[in-house]
Amino acid sequence: MEDQLIERVRGRVPHLAGGLRVGIGDDAAVMAPRKGMEWVVTVDAFLEGVHFLRKVHSPRDVGYKSLARATSDIAAMGAQPRYFLLSLALPSECTSRWLDEFLSGMAAAARRFGLTLAGGDTTKYPSVLINLTVIGESDPGRAVLRSGARPGDIIFVSGRLGEAELGLRLVQLGIGKNRRWKKLLGKHVHPEPRLALGQWLTGRRYATAMIDTSDGLSTDLGHICAASGVGASVFAEKIPLVNVPPGLQRMGLAPLQLAVDGGEDYELLFTVPKRLAGRVPRKVAGVPVTAIGEITRRKEIVLVGSRGNVKPLRPGGWDPFR
Ligand code: ADP
Ligand code: MG
Repeated sequence: MEDQLIERVRGRVPHLAGGLRVGIGDDAAVMAPRKGMEWVVTVDAFLEGVHFLRKVHSPRDVGYKSLARATSDIAAMGAQPRYFLLSLALPSECTSRWLDEFLSGMAAAARRFGLTLAGGDTTKYPSVLINLTVIGESDPGRAVLRSGARPGDIIFVSGRLGEAELGLRLVQLGIGKNRRWKKLLGKHVHPEPRLALGQWLTGRRYATAMIDTSDGLSTDLGHICAASGVGASVFAEKIPLVNVPPGLQRMGLAPLQLAVDGGEDYELLFTVPKRLAGRVPRKVAGVPVTAIGEITRRKEIVLVGSRGNVKPLRPGGWDPFR
């Protein structure tokens, strides 16, 4: 039975690639980085009841999103995705149709990101547990860390912030399936790791520090500042905000709050030395890129309002232990 499940996985997800000498079917995979490259490796859990709800989120979306968010960490290093390993625990009722649809979503993500499934583990559990290891490649020494931001660097962000949080709130309010709002769920169920932008930045060595916005701007900028030993000023008016229809704004969904504290956008937040900042175009690979602030020597993160009013920007994003 377990072997049949593994066969189903293998039949549906890309699993053959040049550099993969031994893939699914042996005790372990054997692979080599291309000549002169470094591995960039990450692991990510996606758990029923914590990260998704089986009653709300379709198996296809679960398959796509689990791999997209794991791959976003590779984007945030400026690396190129190559292989992944899938550790999967399933209840019996999810081993046929649910699994097939889950795998078709995961296969779509794998093809889109250039990933090959190199192995994994399959077991039984009362709820769905997904653990994904993603392996990427980068030129030696080129991966962009959180720790390189310096005072005076300009802070950039890709895309729009708060879109995934808006989708999550609609799901929580029970109106996510409402035809009127359904298209606002896009980013919540289908995040897009910014692979081309990450590689564009590392190729030119523009970025001094980089992170993906998985926990929210306030929290993730805090990670960059803590790792770099610096502070930051963010200009509220410059933040590219989620579009919230007036009807939803009246329900208390405020664009700035969604953008600052909302998680799961999986955009790239990065810093560029001031003298290079002018060379960053408004769009890279079709993705808008916006300057939102500056790194400061003072180890404090502040949000500057439209009238010059300054308030501390405290980490208010996603933290499973809070
Ligand atoms: P072992 O008992 O030696 O760990 P398994 O029966 O768990 O072997 O796995 C057999 C092969 O199938 C291995 O190559 C493993 O990587 C692969 N495999 C198992 N589960 C998955 C999965 N969910 N996705 C991809 N490959 C898998
Ligand atoms: Mg095993």
